[in-house]
Amino acid sequence: MMDYPLTLPHILERAGRYFPKAQIVSRLPDKSLHRTTYREFHRRAKALAESLCKAGLKKGDRVATLMWNHYAHHEAYFGIPAAGGVLHTLNLRLHPNDLEYIVNNAGDRFLIVDDVLLPVLEQFRSRANFERVFVVNHSGARLPAGLEDYNDLLATATGEFAYPRIEEREASGMCYTSGTTGRPRGVVYSHRSTVLHSYNCVLASSMHIAASDVVVPVVPMFHANAWGIPYATTMMGASLVFPGPYLDGESLLNLFESENVTLSAGVPTVWLAVLQLLEREPTRWKLAKGLRLAVGGSAAPESMIRAFDRLGITVLHAWGMTETSPVATVATLKPEMERLSADERYAYRAKQGYAMPFVEMRVVSDDGKEVASDGKAMGEIQVRGPYITGKYFGMEPTPDKFTADGWLRTGDVATIDEEGYIRITDRTKDLIKSGGEWISSVDLENAIMGHPAVAEAAVIAIPDPKWDERPLAVIVLKEGARASAGDINRFLEGKFAKWWLPDEYVFAESIPRTSTGKFLKSALRETYGKRGAGAAAKSKVG
Ligand code: AMP
Repeated sequence: MMDYPLTLPHILERAGRYFPKAQIVSRLPDKSLHRTTYREFHRRAKALAESLCKAGLKKGDRVATLMWNHYAHHEAYFGIPAAGGVLHTLNLRLHPNDLEYIVNNAGDRFLIVDDVLLPVLEQFRSRANFERVFVVNHSGARLPAGLEDYNDLLATATGEFAYPRIEEREASGMCYTSGTTGRPRGVVYSHRSTVLHSYNCVLASSMHIAASDVVVPVVPMFHANAWGIPYATTMMGASLVFPGPYLDGESLLNLFESENVTLSAGVPTVWLAVLQLLEREPTRWKLAKGLRLAVGGSAAPESMIRAFDRLGITVLHAWGMTETSPVATVATLKPEMERLSADERYAYRAKQGYAMPFVEMRVVSDDGKEVASDGKAMGEIQVRGPYITGKYFGMEPTPDKFTADGWLRTGDVATIDEEGYIRITDRTKDLIKSGGEWISSVDLENAIMGHPAVAEAAVIAIPDPKWDERPLAVIVLKEGARASAGDINRFLEGKFAKWWLPDEYVFAESIPRTSTGKFLKSALRETYGKRGAGAAAKSKVG
């Protein structure tokens, strides 16, 4: 066979050649809808590659983006790697000190930024070393001194451009982990890993992306490459719809309706908000038949999967992390499972699924041995494969992150059943250890979110003099709904051993989020962790 490299310019060229009429729709900061086609996307992304080369970009140079999800970010996804550069997506929700650390650690040369995010940039720009900053000027207002217009950069391209020769193992992108403990760490993706990951995303046993799809990555393009969806969707020539900065349930549903969206992807907190709106007004939005929602980043509660089913919407539960490109498992059913009872099928779909092709996975206990595939024994998930990172940027692999035999230690605790489906029970640091036994916060949260009055729930460990740690549940009720601690406790009885049930329930207005939209348990631990059992008499269950 020929030694043909798996690189991103191929996908860009293919999109322009075979799918010029496919649509790209973006919600802009002023809420208007920007419409373009793959023909124009191909022209502009290639112009970006050419103009970056003209600006002196060298192989392997990092170009940062600080942008919402929209057409120009999509151009950067392809134009930067096609120039031989490395697309470095910055998480716009991070603290300026973290952004400063990240851009300096990565050594970013250039930056492309949304005009509406200039206030974020200004908080760390003087401490960063960008040679040039290009602004996607949505409003058309005059730019501050020292900043250049992104369209002016593109205008320097002639259209006469040959891509530099790119080897498939060369870097195409990088992304920093959310870094809830310690400094953020950089993960570098290659052209090859990105292409192979794209193949896995489009498989029928995965997200099943075809040219006929209309796809909305709600997951931000700075969160693990929007789960690879912009690459996979472009590879298949499906239409793309970008939500811009508007990620609330109502804006998303309006977009799903007007663009006839068939597939979307995001974290559970996004879909819980969407679900509440749909349950309140089930006939208000006319959504495409067979709409699928890929859910990951945190566990999708079984109650949510069932509720969407009742509305004719299919949830696809997936697991992964920045280090795994990210999609490593998807919970699609095997054919013989279709004959199981509804309860059994939901139990499988609420798991995180089994490993995608070329992802190897094992679940290992503290003594270093693989746990039994019985769906009960817990251990750490370890993975390896062609799109799993082998080290962090600028660091040698350390034993806490990589095993001696070359597997990534994910820090996720899970069971694995005889069919190979994993079920995440916790992050190592979120497990609750009560009287020497582990309690899964994820299991409790999912069960509590099955109560009809509950919108959101997060469970954390609080110190306990007798048991070491005990669970505390923080609950947000649905608008207008009522439930007491006793009601929730009764709802959980029978579902869990008695000693698993939370000692305390706290009712809150909201649960703080991480920069990628997950429940921020460290903040909850800070607020409630020191109270100890008994401190909140009114919410304590006796
Ligand atoms: P990030 O690198 O920010 O995407 O975070 C990755 C982490 O999110 C994983 O290590 C898991 O702890 C968590 N995660 C991702 N998908 C799921 C899922 N389907 N269920 C439970 N946890 C998940």
